[in-house]
Amino acid sequence: MPSVLIIGAGLAGLMAAYTLQMAGVPVRVLEARDRVGGRTWAVPALSGSPEAELIDLGATWGWAHHPELMHLLPELGIRPFEQHSAGTTIYETPQGIYRLAQASGSTGYLRFAGGAAVLCRTLTQRLPANCLQLSTHVTAIRQLPDGQGVEVRAVQGDSTCTYIASAVVVALPPRLIAHSIQFEPALPTLLHQTLRTVPTWMSHAMKSVVVYEQPFWRAHSWSGFAVSQVGPLLEIHDASPENAQLGALFGFFATPHPLRTASLMERKAAVLAQLTRLFGPQAAHPLAYHELDWAQEPFTSVPGDEQLPLQVPLQGPELLRQPIWQGTLLWAGAETSLGEWGRLNGAIESGRWAAKQVLQQLKEAAAPVPKTK
Ligand SMILES: Cc1cc2nc3c(=O)[nH]c(=O)nc-3n(C[C@H](O)[C@H](O)[C@H](O)COP(=O)(O)OP(=O)(O)OC[C@H]3O[C@@H](n4cnc5c(N)ncnc54)[C@H](O)[C@@H]3O)c2cc1C
Repeated sequence: MPSVLIIGAGLAGLMAAYTLQMAGVPVRVLEARDRVGGRTWAVPALSGSPEAELIDLGATWGWAHHPELMHLLPELGIRPFEQHSAGTTIYETPQGIYRLAQASGSTGYLRFAGGAAVLCRTLTQRLPANCLQLSTHVTAIRQLPDGQGVEVRAVQGDSTCTYIASAVVVALPPRLIAHSIQFEPALPTLLHQTLRTVPTWMSHAMKSVVVYEQPFWRAHSWSGFAVSQVGPLLEIHDASPENAQLGALFGFFATPHPLRTASLMERKAAVLAQLTRLFGPQAAHPLAYHELDWAQEPFTSVPGDEQLPLQVPLQGPELLRQPIWQGTLLWAGAETSLGEWGRLNGAIESGRWAAKQVLQQLKEAAAPVPKTK
């Protein structure tokens, strides 16, 4: 029996698993999707593109002032590169298109060859191959009597399987936990309400990425950064691979937007029409088009997440930093983080935090009981 189960192979879950594994504690990671990475997800720019030309459909950037991320990158041998941002910014309003010699909104942001998903791919490579179970959707978690640990039930294809562990780290967006996992005994009401009220960062987002033969806008001294009040994309950035010939632009769809439920053909046509207005006729001839609506991803979002949250917290609730069931059930995930909430940095911080709690408990459990006189 592995002593610790991690639920969710996003950055937080993998970070918890990696930290525990490095400390010699056997772990098993259960992941609902058929891939690791969660909200970090990158696809080949073109069919057969090498790893360095994977394009982000989820998280893209890191920042030099995010300490956990900056600490992890050299440990994993990942070298970031700077977001291309030199050149003119384009503004689109209903009145017209304006080109201004103004810095891009993403100046100084950091990107990763192979996309931000490289963090999760590399962490996975550092884990023993047999500790990760993909396509395993956890549905229930039960506290066993007499300190026997925790039982986790999961669905794998047509069958149901059960795992027992001494501790479980649940590394999912809090709202998704409340929506999709049954607990026995039921969670205290305040805790359940807290899980439900924490928004999931970027669950409302939809990204479109358009791949071109080359980053032709750079030859016009345009940065690739554009802001639009017209849409369908509201904010556009250069997403070209670092050293490739290929160019790419990515944009965030407006939230909500009627095109989000239209056909792929209609949406793609509207995106290309907008890019052609902003970047000229070369933008009408892409090599590939990719998109992902995160609000429609059942292992990220719950119904209602397609709306922008009314408020975005600066840090996760203190209650999610309190292990329950005598310390055998812990929460992790970017939305539980106390530093850089919702971001990659927060996911790393929370995974490390959960692993440290487990290690502390194991140490205390192993300590000799003092003799009473
Ligand atoms: C479009 C977009 C753009 C973003 N841009 C940035 C950015 O530029 N910079 C930045 O710092 N952050 C960004 N983020 C946020 C960043 O992606 C997250 O902070 C981070 O990836 C969260 O990691 P996590 O492990 O906490 O959660 P997740 O990545 O959500 O991982 C949770 C994992 O649990 C799995 N899971 C769900 N339910 C179950 C279940 N019942 N059983 C088993 N497994 C389950 C999921 O499949 C997933 O793999 C962006 C996010 C999105 C969506």
